[in-house]
Order: sequence, then C-alpha cells, then structure tokens
Amino acid sequence: MALIRINELIDRLLEYQPEADAAVVQKAYVWSAKLHAGSLRASGMPYLSHPLEVAEILTQLKQPADAIAAGLLHDVVEDSTATLDDLTREFGKEISRLVDGVTKIGKITPDATRIEVQAENYRKMILAMAQDVRVILIKLADRLHNMRTLEFLPEDRQRAIAQETMEIYAPIAGRLGIHWIQAQLEDLSFRHLKPDIYFRLAGQVARTREARQDYIDLVTRELEKRLQESGKDAKVSGRFKHLYSIYQKMDRQKLTFEEVHDLVAFRIMVPSIPDCYDALRVIHSFWTPVPGRIKDYIALPKHNMYRSLHTTVIGPEGERVEIQIRTTEMHAVAEYGIAAHWRYKEAGPAVSGQQEKTLEFLHHLVEFHEELKDPYHFLESLKAEVVPEEIIVFTPGGDMIELPAGATPIDFAFAIHSDIGIHAAGAKVNGRIVPLNHGLLSGDTAEIITSKIAEPSRAWLEIVKSTRAHAKIAHWISTREAEQMREMGRQVLESELLRHGKALGTLIEDGTMAQVAKRFNFSSYKLLFEAIGFGNFPARRVVTQLVPPEDLRTPTKRSKKAAKKSAKKIKKATSRKKTATLAAAADEETKPAVVIHSFNDPALLFAPCCRPLVGDEVVAVRSSEDLVEIHRADCPRGLEAHPERIIAARWADEVEGESEVAIEVIAKDMKGMLAKLSTVISSANLNIARATVHTTQEKKAIHTFNINLKHLSELQRLIKSIEKIDPVISVRRM
Ligand code: MN
Repeated sequence: MALIRINELIDRLLEYQPEADAAVVQKAYVWSAKLHAGSLRASGMPYLSHPLEVAEILTQLKQPADAIAAGLLHDVVEDSTATLDDLTREFGKEISRLVDGVTKIGKITPDATRIEVQAENYRKMILAMAQDVRVILIKLADRLHNMRTLEFLPEDRQRAIAQETMEIYAPIAGRLGIHWIQAQLEDLSFRHLKPDIYFRLAGQVARTREARQDYIDLVTRELEKRLQESGKDAKVSGRFKHLYSIYQKMDRQKLTFEEVHDLVAFRIMVPSIPDCYDALRVIHSFWTPVPGRIKDYIALPKHNMYRSLHTTVIGPEGERVEIQIRTTEMHAVAEYGIAAHWRYKEAGPAVSGQQEKTLEFLHHLVEFHEELKDPYHFLESLKAEVVPEEIIVFTPGGDMIELPAGATPIDFAFAIHSDIGIHAAGAKVNGRIVPLNHGLLSGDTAEIITSKIAEPSRAWLEIVKSTRAHAKIAHWISTREAEQMREMGRQVLESELLRHGKALGTLIEDGTMAQVAKRFNFSSYKLLFEAIGFGNFPARRVVTQLVPPEDLRTPTKRSKKAAKKSAKKIKKATSRKKTATLAAAADEETKPAVVIHSFNDPALLFAPCCRPLVGDEVVAVRSSEDLVEIHRADCPRGLEAHPERIIAARWADEVEGESEVAIEVIAKDMKGMLAKLSTVISSANLNIARATVHTTQEKKAIHTFNINLKHLSELQRLIKSIEKIDPVISVRRM
C-alpha cells in the first residue's frame, strides 16, 4: 500500500471541510515525525507511517482538523519523550484531551490469562467513548491500520489481536454505525483466525464474481427500468457482501457455498423518504416479496441510527434478491454512522438528538459497568451488549423496548422496571403464556405477569442477555444473601447470649449493640450480624464484651430457664400454624382442584418460599388471572392468602421437570466435609445446583445445598443418608 503524504491528507481534509485549520494538521505531522524519528514498525516501515495511515482513515470518516491532528499524535505520549503538558501547550486542550483519551485506553495487550487487565482496558475504553466518541474513532482507525499490518507480528499475537478485534472492536464499529470499518475489521480478523476457511471462501467468491456479474447487471437494469417508468429518480447498485458475512450465513444455516444465493446486495438511492416507500411498492408490484423479510428501519431506526427499507424478493430466474432502499442522507449515516455527524460541523461537546440515541448505549454501559465487578462477567456482558443485532419488543401499550438479540421476558421485564423484573413470575408473548426463558423475537408484544412472592433465581443469570438485567439480578442476589447471613448471624448471637441470660432484643433497643458494633469498627450492628453470619467474626467476641468473665464459663440457672421458655414459645407458634393449615385444607375441598402436570408449566409459580415437591401436600393460590402459585400446605405465605383465592391442588400421577430445593446441613467443621457431603448427594444421582459453607465460631460448618429433584421421597432418602454421616449434627429442608 502506497503511503499517503501529508499534503494529500490536507487536500482531502480541505475537500470536505474547506475552512479547516490545515496549519494545525501540518504542525502535528511535523511533531509526530520528529518524535517518532528513528523508530520502526514491525513491518520495517518508519513508525511515522502508522500515525499517517491512522490520520488517513480519519479523513475517510470526514473528521475535523483537530481529530486528524490527534490521530497524527495518538502514539507520541505512549511511545516518545513528549508529555501531555507539551501537547496542551503546543496544540491546545482539545487535541491533548483526545490524545489523552486514546492513550488512557492503553496499549491493550490481549492475554487470555490476564482477564482482569483486559476488562480494565475495556472499562477505560467505554468511559473514554462516553466522554467523547472521537476518542474511539481514533482508536478504531488505529486498530484498523494495525490489523492491516498484522502479518508482521508473531503468530500468537496475531491470533490474540484478531480475536479481540472480532469480539470487541468490530462490534463497536457496528454499534457506532460505521459499517465499512466493521466489515474490514471482520474480514481481517477472519483471515487471521480461520485462514483456511478464509482463503477458500475468498477463492470461491472471486471465481463466482465473474459468473455472477451478468446476473447483477440483469437485476440492476431491470430495477432501473421499472423505477424510471414510474417516474423515480433512482440510483441502483449491486455489491458483493463481505466475506465474513457470507461465512456467518453459511455457518449459522449450515449451508455450503453453492447454497448461499444472496452473495450480492442491491442498493437503491432515492431523493426523499416518500420516494423510498414508492420504490418499495414499485418493486413489489413486479417481484414477489419473501414474507417476513420486509424491514422498515426508516420508521424504526436501529440503535446506531441506521435507516433504510429492506426487502427480499424473488427476482429473475427465481433467485432471492436482497434490496436496500435509502436516501443519500441515510446512506451517509449507514457508511459513517456516528462519525457522519461531525461532517461539515465544528467539533464540540454539543450532541445532536440523533447522536444521543447511540450515546445512550454508551452511557448504559458506563452505568452498569460499576455493578459488574467480576471481570469475566463484565467482558461477557460487554460482548453481548456491543453485538449490533438487537430486537424491538412492544409493551401492551405499544411502547418499544430495545433488547439484545436472544433476549428473554426477564430482560424485557428489567428493561421496563427493576421491580417488574424482580417479581416476574411468567410472561405472555403475543397473548400466549410462555416460560421466562422464552426467546423473544423482533415485533413480539410481551407482557410480564408478576407475583409478590416471585423472586430472581441464580439460574436467571445464565438466561438473560442484557447487561441491565444481569447487573440487577446479581445485585439482588448478593443483597439477599447478605440479608440471609445477617439473619443467621443474629440467630447465632442470640442463642449464644441467651445461654448467659442476655436478651439480644433488649441489647439492641437500649443501644448496647450499636456501641459494641462501633467498638469493633462496624458502622452498624446489622453489619456486625452479617460478619458473624458469614463466619468472618466470632460471636464469642461480642459475648465477652457483655458478660462478666466469671459468668462466661457456665451458663446461669436463670438463663437456662430463659432458654427453655423461648423454646416453648417457638413450639407453641408452630402448633398454631398447623391448626390453621388444617382449616384451610378443609376449606379447599369444596373448590375445583388444580392438577399439577409439570414443574415447567408457565401458568404455575412454584413458590420460592417453600419449594414444593411431588409428595408434599400442596395448595394453589390464584395470584392473578394468568398465574397460580403452588405452596406447600403448611407454608405461611400460602396461608396468608385470602381464602377466596385458595384452590385445592394435587399432583398428577406423572409430573414433568424438577424443582430446586435447599437443604441445610450443620456439621462439625472438619476438613473434607463439603467433599464428603457432595459425594453422598451425587451418589444419590442428584444434581447440586449450588453449595455454600459458612463456619461459625463454635467450629460448626453450616452448609447449604441447592439440589434439583422431583419427589419428596427422594429428598427424605437423601436427608436420611446425610444424617448417617458421623460429624453431621442436623439436616433440614429450608
Ligand atoms: Mn497506534
């Protein structure tokens, strides 16, 4: 590739921005040349060739002078003696800010083993982008040139950089609507990631090109003639799709090259929006459209501002022909995306209404990157989020909700409101009840059925596609766990204090607990309970603060009495509950019964409070028109329901699916205990969905296991075999 010269570069800039400050570009060039003097690229070219090519790509994006200058200077802070202060002094704040942004993103060194570093780099990139999109335009130009010269690097670096380009940079170019950069990045990455397939496909396309040319000419002529006859001023062109998009199609639909018919896409450019719709009508009047392939991105623009009409028709010789119809202005946006908005404009922080839509996505990423502390999840959700494909799903009220492709009703629910997401129990799509993991399609109308008792499960984290839903669910679960641990810590402390005749409730009320917590540097006693629950702080240390040393050894008689009394209280409460259950059960018999055939029935919510199993006595509670909750007959949540809403329920003889139940195993804290328990569970052919262990100060280990199973008898058998393990103190279903 012939190297662009600086005067050519300036000529190009002046072509699209006649009033541009050419002097600043000239000066940036001189600086860059001086600072990079003597350095070489891996290709053996002078280093200066790189910033020059980057600046050239930026002129293709029709960027203003300061962005071109920043492109010329983008590597000087990183690679030479120049500092940011030097740049600010010589070139002003704007240019040095752009260079700083690009430098901050850093030389990303793709390295699968250092996922934290990678995640951190992407975080920086997103933050920089959200502040000024030109930073990422410079970074994309940088990456594009690096990809073009990738062959000079060692092979493992080639692969790593190509992989990262495919996963992050190409999709970001797509998200920003810069189609030609996306296509080039994809093809260059494809070439280095799958060279065999790439070169075979490139050969096939080259051979076909000639044969296809007649067909392209035929379709082009026909379209031009028909549009002219109807009085349209239209420009028609046919182009080959880029290799990676052909490969994706073959891969997705398991097609051979010969089976891919739409290697070529046709484009019609007309002066106005009404002309677009007219042209579509004209085309459909002589070629039959393929159902489901007409897309109106004019009425519903894509996230990246892309607008066009798309249709696929059965063209000459019965072949499918893909056609895009757009105005000249839409074409500029389709090619340059967000960069189009700097054309002929002075650069500035002001953001136009259309840009805002694209920037919304960046802000969205920034907003949630804070909540995703785990670098692996951060990267995964970033990748999912930058994939340009998205779907539009409607609310019953007709509002549009944009979601990543493959999104589920859970994503939809969280996109509407966190509360709806958290209480989502089921969904209706196009009027039909579907399970929450149902894949939504563009154009669906979705409605979420909520229930007060429904709550997110860990499994949702694997199902959702949007960053928002993932972050909200993860946050909810960790908050809930902290709450549970706080309660566990409170109980541990309460029983410990009771042995010494102290009532925790009183100590909280009179402010003693707050003081004790403060003494141990907890900002509240609730956080102290939490630390005890998580096993991070021994309850005994609290007790020693409150009980005189001489009383610590043996519990007092009075306290023994108190302990007995409280145990009695608990017993009494339980028996009251039982009576209520019986009364409710008697009531049910007069009503028609719900027969449960499947754990996966979207119209049934298996209550998370009591997780009923086949064999449990159950009641159904109607919580809305579309949803029935299934509770164990003795579950207080079920009993709270209004008698009118309670329906008798029973299990069918055959029940499909499984439920996830939790059991708690308290054992002596011994090495290998968790492994022992896990072995017992899996040798019963049961699947552990999740396990946790917390150690108490009394050398007890509290294990919880979430287990997938169906029958109560399975659970009972399991509990029996766990009880037989020697160091186990107690086992219970939670
Ligand atoms: Mn560079």
